[in-house]
Amino acid sequence: MVTRPISDFSGFSGRRARFEHDRPDAETARELLERLLQRTQQEKLVSTTDLRQRLLQAGIDLDMPRLADARGFLASDVTLDTAALETAPTPDISRFLLQIMDGDLAIQNFPIFENRIANIYAYAQAIPGGAVANYIPELAKQDPNAFGLAVCSIDGQRMALGEADTPFCLQSVVKPLNYALALGLNGERYVHHHVGREPSGLGFNELTLNRDNRPHNPMINSGAIMCSAMIRPGRPVDERFDMLMRFWDSAIGSQACSFDAAVYASEQATAERNYALARLMQSHGVFPEGSIVERALDLYFRSCAISLDCRALSVAAATLANGGVCPLTGHRIAEPAIIRNTLSLMLTCGMYDFSGEFAFVVGLPAKSGVSGGLMLVVPGVCGIGLWSPPLDRLGNTVRGLEFSRRLVEAFPFHIFAGTTGELR
Ligand code: GLU
Repeated sequence: MVTRPISDFSGFSGRRARFEHDRPDAETARELLERLLQRTQQEKLVSTTDLRQRLLQAGIDLDMPRLADARGFLASDVTLDTAALETAPTPDISRFLLQIMDGDLAIQNFPIFENRIANIYAYAQAIPGGAVANYIPELAKQDPNAFGLAVCSIDGQRMALGEADTPFCLQSVVKPLNYALALGLNGERYVHHHVGREPSGLGFNELTLNRDNRPHNPMINSGAIMCSAMIRPGRPVDERFDMLMRFWDSAIGSQACSFDAAVYASEQATAERNYALARLMQSHGVFPEGSIVERALDLYFRSCAISLDCRALSVAAATLANGGVCPLTGHRIAEPAIIRNTLSLMLTCGMYDFSGEFAFVVGLPAKSGVSGGLMLVVPGVCGIGLWSPPLDRLGNTVRGLEFSRRLVEAFPFHIFAGTTGELR
């Protein structure tokens, strides 16, 4: 059983998100190497093979871009001595290796964490019910038994289960980054002049606007169409879409995004409701001046057809959990305030008409989509990517909801767990 009293678990540091990798401090490259050598000796790591084992045990894969400069060294089998170390790590890598050996990672006991996550996964897998979305014909083809899950910590520790390598189309899971990109390009004032930030209390594609005739928020269709209208409106749609894909790539730290042309075609062919929403907003004159509404819709449809797998999605979620710095590359994708705004709206509006319930019970910023995808953010700890197509009547992945509930029972991850003394 996965449910242990929270106070029994002391595997999390509960500290704030890591931002840019620790600034080079007074310690010189030489001193860092000496300290690294000392630590490897204390840990009785004799060769690079031992060191590799140590990294894997902590959940660190050698393919992490941050370790690129030391990949050859880490993949070799040589004795760890001054000469060997001198050929290898850069100061940033030395610092990271020391951090790993000091156990100073977001998830301190990774094997126990993995084990518990696997138990929760197994529990959620057994949950029956739900129906695969069929209003977009291409989505109806999804396998109801598929269930992928991946976790990435803010230090790049990773694990994956089930169909974690199977790409699926993001659908509404794309909305948080659509919004973040619009914010980055236009600023908060401009964006929120065109789209609200209140939950709608209604379905994601409801034909309705707020009191100011604006979309209620960027996490529902009308709001996402509006955000699309604010992504480089004067440029060709291909270029705008490319920019969005590149934004996702930077969040996942690789070029793992692809475009599902069949979903896009299916989406376009069944888009009456989205056209109606766009026309409604147009009739109120609330699109930014000069917007070509058809192009904003086109960009929105394309964005729903962005495909990636749970592993990649977990890294994007971890980038949000890490205040906007991708844990695998160390690159910042957006300013902290943009990430804070994005997380706030995911928390209040990310789970369709179940957002209030979800914030109450699970207490984590999240975004689900009709393909069964779910991006879950544990601020300052990790990101989770999940995919299981059967949906409940509100459009949320059934297994994803079960997993989320169990997750916060097993770990002190609810955002208020720290306030109530559950973080020990
Ligand atoms: N492509 C979908 C639509 O606009 C997105 C729905 C969703 O995932 O909520 O209808």
